[in-house]
Amino acid sequence: MLHNLPIPQPDPLWAVLSKMEQDQRNDKLDLIVGVYRDENGVTPTMQAVQLAEQRLANEATSKAYKGLSGNTLFNASMTGLLVPNGAIAKTTTIQTVGGTGALRLLFDFIYALSPSATVWISNPGYINHEPIAQKAGLKTKTYPYLDSNGQLDEAAMLEHLSMAKPGDVVVLHGCCHNPSGVDLSEPQWKTLASLLASKQLTPLVDIAYLGLSDTMENELKGLHHLIGSLETVFIAASCSKNMGLYCERTGCAMVVSNTSQQPAIRSLFEQIARSNYSMPPEHGAAIAHLLLSDPTLNSNWQGELTFMRNRINHLRKQLSLALQEDERENRYAYLARGKGMFSLLPFSSSEMDILAARFGIYGTKTGRINIAGLKESQIPYLTEAIRQLAQ
Ligand code: PMP
Repeated sequence: MLHNLPIPQPDPLWAVLSKMEQDQRNDKLDLIVGVYRDENGVTPTMQAVQLAEQRLANEATSKAYKGLSGNTLFNASMTGLLVPNGAIAKTTTIQTVGGTGALRLLFDFIYALSPSATVWISNPGYINHEPIAQKAGLKTKTYPYLDSNGQLDEAAMLEHLSMAKPGDVVVLHGCCHNPSGVDLSEPQWKTLASLLASKQLTPLVDIAYLGLSDTMENELKGLHHLIGSLETVFIAASCSKNMGLYCERTGCAMVVSNTSQQPAIRSLFEQIARSNYSMPPEHGAAIAHLLLSDPTLNSNWQGELTFMRNRINHLRKQLSLALQEDERENRYAYLARGKGMFSLLPFSSSEMDILAARFGIYGTKTGRINIAGLKESQIPYLTEAIRQLAQ
């Protein structure tokens, strides 16, 4: 059976990562994977999470199985966090194995209902959207997202999406677009919502970085507008980044729907989960629920999250300023405007190779750098390398 085992292509992200790990230089910069690091280069466990864990340990609750939907208190807290009050009753939420698990479950769900639906994914976009949708059996197409100056190319995006057929699904990043850091403005969300409604397209909003660029209220405006304008909205949410629960694999999938199909939606969700992993892991969900529901832990968490996003926004400004060539012109101004952890450097894959080989600065092949992985003290070194490469 295993004689002709094909060797899969290495994942491009993990391939760069293993190169970086072999690099012996002390001043190398790891800006590859999307994890938040503090000024000491550490991805800390949040204090609110530690307090929640202590409380859970003291209460020593049972480890007996939960239901197929996972931790229902967590599901209710996440629904309250993401969905406007008026839409809570029409939302079905299931706990998933991280944001990735939410994407897979939703794509499986979509395939079960409509195997001929095409999933539209932004280009550039999150590297894992396409493989997850395709493994679920769905066809994928891309829509352009950026113009040659790295701004949102709204016209091209809308033009492409208007070619989608009724019933297709459009994947959108709720905030902090990965990899570009370019988000839609409120008017752009509204225009997009009208197009989706008129073409009978359903959005799947992937929200993996809530709170990392702005207040959650502001970041949720686009999603809330979609919910107010469309019959159905899919949501894939992750607690990995904004609660620092990465390895606890905590997330959820939601369907917000004006139909009265909520019981059927839940049954299908649970059936998909049952034939996959049965039940999601409890620990992260129990922590996340405490962070969202206990007033003290909630205010601790919000404080730490605000600190994280202030640090990222500060690093963005400092990097952009350091790269400014003269008073009048700053072609790196977009770095300061960018949202969340990532931005794209204007470099080709071979230039990114040079950045790694000559300077020990590692981003992805597509030019993505994780600004949240930077220390302020490293900005002069990064700036000098970018300058030399751009010459
Ligand atoms: N969606 C996007 C856009 C992401 O960037 C990520 C994580 N890198 C995920 C989903 C998956 O998140 P998780 O780690 O919770 O599976």
